[in-house]
Amino acid sequence: MTDSLSFPSGPWPTLAPGWVWLCGAGPGDPGLLTLHALNGLRQADVIVYDALVQPDILDWAREDAERIFAGKRGGKPSARQVDISLRLVELARAGKRVLRLKGGDPFVFGRGGEEAQTLIQHDIPVRIVPGISAGIGGLAYAGIPVTHRDVNQSVTFVTGHDQSGETPSSLNWTAISQGSQVLVIYMGIKHAPVIAKALLNAGRPADEPVAVVTQATTPDQRVLETTLGTLVDDLAASAMQPPAIICVGRSVLMRQVLDWQGLAAGEKPRNLDPLGRGRPAEQA
Ligand code: SAH
Repeated sequence: MTDSLSFPSGPWPTLAPGWVWLCGAGPGDPGLLTLHALNGLRQADVIVYDALVQPDILDWAREDAERIFAGKRGGKPSARQVDISLRLVELARAGKRVLRLKGGDPFVFGRGGEEAQTLIQHDIPVRIVPGISAGIGGLAYAGIPVTHRDVNQSVTFVTGHDQSGETPSSLNWTAISQGSQVLVIYMGIKHAPVIAKALLNAGRPADEPVAVVTQATTPDQRVLETTLGTLVDDLAASAMQPPAIICVGRSVLMRQVLDWQGLAAGEKPRNLDPLGRGRPAEQA
C-alpha cells in the first residue's frame, strides 16, 4: 500500500508529522468515507478512533499504523474528553501524523469543536475533514429523505442527551416541535419515552410517522416504522439498541417507496405514492 493515494486532480494534502486531522468517518459503511478521510487513513502513523467508527474502516489504514481506541466499551465510562484531547496533543508533539477519527461528522454532536479548540490552543496544526452525519446519511440508507419538498422546508437536529446524560432539559421541546416539520434525534433511544411525551404534549399528533434506525449503513442496520403514539411500546418490543437515529415527521412515509435496500433485495415498493401527490405522469 502506498503512503498516500494518488488522485487524478493533482496533489492532495499531506498529513505531515506533528499534524492532527480531525476526520469524520461517516455513519458506518466504509464507502461513505470522504476522499480526504481515506487519504488521511493511508498516511497516518496513529489513528485515534471512537466506538462509533466501524472496524472495517480501520482496514483502510496503513497496516503498521498504531490504532488507539478512545471510546466507551463494555459499559466502562468513556475516556474523558480532556484526556483524549491532551493525548492528541502529545502524539502530535511527538512528531506523529495523527488521524483523529470520529463517527459521522466530527462537528455534529461529536465534540469535535472541543478537540480542535484544545489542539489549536496547544499550537497543534489541524485539518478538519467533515463526514456524512448519521442523521442525514443514515436516514438515506433507510430510504428516508431528510428533506422532501412536499413535507418540510426545515429540519431540526436534536440530541436526546445533554452533558449530564439526561434528556436535555434545557431544550424547549414546545419550540422544537413547532419549529420544523421534521425532527432528527440523535442519542434518543434511552430517553425516547420522555421525548415522545414532550412532543405529544407540545401538540405533535400521536399518529405522526416515526422511524428508528439503528446501526444505520452497516450490515446490521434495522429500521422500525411506528408513530409518535406507539413509539415507546414498539421500541421496547423491538429490543433495538443504540446507536440509533429517530426521525419524526411525514418524510418517514417516503420509505414506503424509497426503501432502496429492500428493493435491491427483491421487495416491491409498498406504496409508489405515499404522500398522495399523484404519480409523476399525473402531476405533469
Ligand atoms: N458525529 C456523529 C454523531 C455522534 S453522537 C454523526 O455526525 O453522526 C452519537 C449518536 O449518533 C448515536 O447515539 C446515534 O444517535 C447517532 N449515530 C451515529 N452513528 C449511527 C449509526 N450508524 N446508526 C444510527 N445512529 C447513529
